Amino acid sequence: MGYAEVSVNSPIAQRRTFSYAIPPGLSIDVGQAVWVPFGNRLLQGVVLELSDYPAVEEVREIAGVIEPHPILSPYQVPLACWISEHYLSPLFDAVALMLPPGFERKALTFIAVSAIPDDFDLSSLSREQRHTLGLVRRQGKVSLKELEKTLGQKKAQRIVSQLVKLGLATRSYEMEPIRARPKVESYLSLAVAAGKAREEATRLRERGAVRQAALLDFLARQSEPVSLAEARQKTKCNKTIVDALVGKGLVTVRQVEVKREPISYQSITLSSPLPLTVAQKSALARIQSSLLQKRDNNASSAAFLLHGVTGSGKTEIYLQALAEAVKRGKRGIVLVPEIALTPQTIEWFASRFPHRVAVLHSQLSLGERFDEWRRIRNGEFDVVIGPRSAIFAPQPDLGLIVIDEEHEWTYKQHDKSPRYHARDVAIKLAELTGAVVILGSATPDVETFYRAQQGDYQLLQLPERVTPSEGSPLPQVEVVDLREELKAGNRSLFSRSLSQAMTRAVAGGEQVILFLNRRGAATFIQCRNCGFVLRCRRCEVVLTHHPAEDVLVCHQCNYKVSVPQVCPQCLSRRIKFLGTGTQKLEQEAGYTFPQARLLRWDSDVTRGRGSHQARLNKFRAHEADVLIGTQMIAKGLDLPLVTLVGVINADIALNLPDFRAGEKTFQLLGQVAGRAGRGTLWGQVIIQTYAPEHYAIQAAAKHDYALFYNREITYRRQLHNPPFTQLACLVYSHTNDALCQRKAERMKRRLVAERDSRGVADLGIIGPAPAFIHRLRGRFRWQIILRGSELSAFLSQIPVPQGWTVDIEPISLV
Ligand SMILES: [Zn+2]
Ligand SMILES: [Zn+2]
Repeated sequence: MGYAEVSVNSPIAQRRTFSYAIPPGLSIDVGQAVWVPFGNRLLQGVVLELSDYPAVEEVREIAGVIEPHPILSPYQVPLACWISEHYLSPLFDAVALMLPPGFERKALTFIAVSAIPDDFDLSSLSREQRHTLGLVRRQGKVSLKELEKTLGQKKAQRIVSQLVKLGLATRSYEMEPIRARPKVESYLSLAVAAGKAREEATRLRERGAVRQAALLDFLARQSEPVSLAEARQKTKCNKTIVDALVGKGLVTVRQVEVKREPISYQSITLSSPLPLTVAQKSALARIQSSLLQKRDNNASSAAFLLHGVTGSGKTEIYLQALAEAVKRGKRGIVLVPEIALTPQTIEWFASRFPHRVAVLHSQLSLGERFDEWRRIRNGEFDVVIGPRSAIFAPQPDLGLIVIDEEHEWTYKQHDKSPRYHARDVAIKLAELTGAVVILGSATPDVETFYRAQQGDYQLLQLPERVTPSEGSPLPQVEVVDLREELKAGNRSLFSRSLSQAMTRAVAGGEQVILFLNRRGAATFIQCRNCGFVLRCRRCEVVLTHHPAEDVLVCHQCNYKVSVPQVCPQCLSRRIKFLGTGTQKLEQEAGYTFPQARLLRWDSDVTRGRGSHQARLNKFRAHEADVLIGTQMIAKGLDLPLVTLVGVINADIALNLPDFRAGEKTFQLLGQVAGRAGRGTLWGQVIIQTYAPEHYAIQAAAKHDYALFYNREITYRRQLHNPPFTQLACLVYSHTNDALCQRKAERMKRRLVAERDSRGVADLGIIGPAPAFIHRLRGRFRWQIILRGSELSAFLSQIPVPQGWTVDIEPISLV
């Protein structure tokens, strides 16, 4: 008899597997999904190992297989184990990342009648038992649920158990089926004759309803119904416009069922490889030669950092590298930071690999995701594009993994277990499969760049923009010192420079973006006169203002100090300056620029689904001159009419109590600056700050990554921060603040004792302290930070009680 080590879908299972016997006649493979008895329940599990001997004496038998074929590929099994060990997550959480969508469903129990022995005396059965047996025999197979409906839950379960015990019936298990909803699309047609529609259009146009008129004219030219998507594209209409015409009885909308196709190829034209610059050619040649090399399992991976300024043609390298991989019979996975903001990436791949591109994202329905997963596993696609979770797509013959904008924080899953980083998982996956990894960025993560410097990754540089025609050069950046503004008597949120530039841009029919990093606003206290910000003497991080007690707190070590009345540096009384919000900014912009049409875009005004797109469309259609928003506007938008970007206060990002604040600021300013001058017009960026001499702001203004990196890595080394050490963050949350603090203090004592008894050198245990976001959804949070090396191994020995979360290599400490 053989035995299987099974990862079981139960919170009790944590990081271990359980031994089960394989019943005779059942063929079981590694990676196979099975039903196993666990306590008095039947749970899902995945077989991670087969052995001749069980790990414990008493084992139960596997109840049945869920699918005849292994559901995890051979390399995914060690990958899941690595994730569980490295990120200290329950094993099944790691396994679940790789299961098909909707897999975690309930088991349905079915009852069938066994062959009844000739000598069996049926009259020995009770009336109910005979009745049930007859019912099951007539139908061949009956679900337990159905029996429960006729007999009642308890009675049905009792009788079935009795029949099974007597050998008269058997149980089998199936998963609840997935019900995929059919996809429907809206089709528009005229409700009136074409001539009448044209008359109406003229009337509407006279009254200023230009887009309604355009849609009517467009529909009048069509011989058959047109999909809403096409009408949108051709006439710039939207749902409000359609609804208005439907309301007037001029247009009808019909829902038509369509075949699922995650990518609309309607607007995609095929493209051929572009000619490469010298730098692109040499980068591609190194990737190609790496694709040619045979790497055995567990050999060192081939990972590249492709560092190229915006517009240097990184995507073309991805495309041609993938073409090479496909030529060698391999396939790829491409990760993008946010699927909603990267339709261009999808379009590029779809135009080069038509109908061979799979897209995975959470906006697809369960049925769609399941279909896509199955088609990927069948090898129907050359490439899978998706957010971080797409790294777990069952792509066969994996040869290439691309992580675009690798510095983006969305690649780290921080809000639920396993708290993995897709980049580190990709590197591990490449080790297991022999695939080549390309990490692409204009502003690489400091840790990634350090690894490239150390030779862990091969560094490929694209220093020049690809300029097909005259092209658009990087925008000019001006840094404005807000202290000087105040000295000159300007108390407004707008510096004189920004004010003049805005007036000029709006008058010239151009567009402006005003950027306010609201996250962390009103949490630090800054001197408006000299820019001084209070920091913790021990941790070097910015102190956070707690308005309830009006004190400043270090959220790493819990150092507290009252708010000073005068600035310790310049003795000014203007110390208590708390920053500003988007609403206030909108108000002041309204007073200062009465002629400009304003549009606010932040999480308060874009709650509803699709409202992001609606705002974006409105701005793109030039229905507003000035867009006011938070970091969500910084990413990936291509707005050709924007010539001016104003950063209202760059210090908000700079003064987050986090060792990555400088890096965040540099990346953010780089991204924001990238929004200006994307069309044929020149771009200008104005950064307002109280700390104009700060290296992150200086480097961003000069578009100089090396300048930023060299300073940043020096500080990281001095302060023992990553990549020179590893961090782990332990958070305890509870509705009772005092209890939180006590639990955190107890955990700290425990960690200190463990460290001292094991004689672990160089392990810093910092805190406990209230977390930066002290209260989240009604629960208080306290945190302990560990700084050292091999933290997973250290922490794996310590039981983590309920209520704690452990984040290995947290992406941020705020
Ligand atoms: Zn001061
Ligand atoms: Zn501190």
